[in-house]
Amino acid sequence: MSMATELAATYGTPLYVYDLDRVAAARRDLFDALPEEFGVFYAFKANPHPEIARTLREDGSRACRAEISSTGELAAALAAGYSGAEIFYTGPGKTAAELATAMGHGVRMFSVESLSDLRRIGSVATGHGVVVDCLLRINSASASASTSIRMTGTSSQFGIDSESLADLVPQLKSVPGTRISGAHLFPLSNAKDEESLISEFQHTIEVAAWVQKEIGVEFRHLDIGGGFAMPYAVPGERPVYRKLRTELGGALDVAFPGWRANGLQVFCESGRYLTGGCGELVCSVVNIKESRGRKFVILDAGINTFGGMSGLGRLLPVAVQPQADAEPGDTEVANLVGPLCTPGDLLGRDVSLPSPASGDVITIPNAGAYGVTASLLMFLGRPAPTEVTVRGGQIVSVSRLEHNRVYGDPR
Ligand SMILES: *Cc1c(COP(=O)(O)O)cnc(C)c1O
Repeated sequence: MSMATELAATYGTPLYVYDLDRVAAARRDLFDALPEEFGVFYAFKANPHPEIARTLREDGSRACRAEISSTGELAAALAAGYSGAEIFYTGPGKTAAELATAMGHGVRMFSVESLSDLRRIGSVATGHGVVVDCLLRINSASASASTSIRMTGTSSQFGIDSESLADLVPQLKSVPGTRISGAHLFPLSNAKDEESLISEFQHTIEVAAWVQKEIGVEFRHLDIGGGFAMPYAVPGERPVYRKLRTELGGALDVAFPGWRANGLQVFCESGRYLTGGCGELVCSVVNIKESRGRKFVILDAGINTFGGMSGLGRLLPVAVQPQADAEPGDTEVANLVGPLCTPGDLLGRDVSLPSPASGDVITIPNAGAYGVTASLLMFLGRPAPTEVTVRGGQIVSVSRLEHNRVYGDPR
């Protein structure tokens, strides 16, 4: 029995098991793949679990910083030990109240999605008597590699269109309470291979150099985004990027000569690469039925527990492939579905399983990112899954998210 299955016997299913040693290994691998001057922002939306976030912050100069876009994620980052100075606040819908909370906790670095966004940041900063660093998020008109999820080049709620930048520069530079300190680009998620990742970054760095010239301010911060890949709910390993470090350094040497010495801080961002591989979701087969020649394996975990975002286009459709834990033997092909009263509660179509039976425990690998908090947790009123973190084979924490209706004035 694997540790995850043993824990499921104790805590029941559905159960997430996160191995913090794997989180630490992913962090080391990512820092190793980047020039040593680079910083890394951990995208809290991948998994805001405090033990995971805390593990990513360990290790001095190779500690991740936090990339957040809500006060909930702010609270998670603070609880995990990140200081305001280590937090980068992003997102297209930052309200004045949220900004005030963030600034009250010492957050001084913001991604800016538009002139009106910048003005709102400025007015809150002025109220706090501070000047905050603003990285202009740019929606570049041009793109490079052909890759999976593209977030730039089309019309979008994200970023300032590159073609409108020139006209906006005078206004962008004159917002009290703000200082344009650099650019933020995030054109890509889950690159298909190292070549496409590198070519996307090369392009991003060229765009960033162009932005710096347009704005006419020497950058102090440059966030070139991510795209570091990770299998999602299927077996597989985190890719190792062997050429990235040299290629990134080279591209920056051309576009930002002297960047290593002149105080330009360069950042990458990652969610799935850092945490995807640390987690397994253990669930149980509740029932099995046949319908018109097709087998349905009904689990106690569906899109309320895992992968609830798949219908939203942000992630690839969930195509879960359980870990081949059992002895090799007869396999059957079945649809893996959850317990919810909607045909949309489908985790995998035509999945091969070793002769499934009621009561079997099924483990979904690489489920550490975009799991619990990316799911339709409240839908159909089932409790959230239990989450266990382990380090060195020992349990570190056991927890479960709760949501309750609050009556009266919820503030
Ligand atoms: C979602 C997101 C990330 C993380 O993406 P991964 O594919 O999980 O690495 C990083 N940065 C921004 C701005 C994001 O929106």
